[in-house]
Amino acid sequence: MHGAGWCYRRFKDEGFRLTIPRQAILDVFNQNSKHLSAEEIFLLVHRNYPGVGLATVYRTLDLLTQMGIIFKSDFGDGCSRYELADEATKGHHHLICTRCGRIIDYSDFIEKEEKFTKELETELSQKYKFKINSHQIHFYGLCDKCQ
Ligand SMILES: [Zn+2]
Ligand SMILES: [Zn+2]
Repeated sequence: MHGAGWCYRRFKDEGFRLTIPRQAILDVFNQNSKHLSAEEIFLLVHRNYPGVGLATVYRTLDLLTQMGIIFKSDFGDGCSRYELADEATKGHHHLICTRCGRIIDYSDFIEKEEKFTKELETELSQKYKFKINSHQIHFYGLCDKCQ
């Protein structure tokens, strides 16, 4: 379980109030497995806070993403997934099983990847005169149980 202290500090530092929906969503991230969709987050919030609507959940997720408290990823299954941007998980990438939907976080090869992608980005932006702001790395395939 991750400590959420830094999330609350971030709110204070940036001058945001910790409203009930924000608190409720942070609770969900601290108590549940990662890579949750907005609908899953809404259902979990709804259990304890039935007054918090889906639109509020979406709005709050956008705010938390902008603040860098959570990470948003799109794994190509049509819904965005969110996870806590804890110091420890910062910078991990994903292996996604296309059969059972399991998502594996890895950070073992990040240094190697970063070196490679930096070189690639430099070459791409020179060749296509394209200013690259970000990229996402996911690998799709079958996990050990599904092979
Ligand atoms: Zn699998
Ligand atoms: Zn992840």
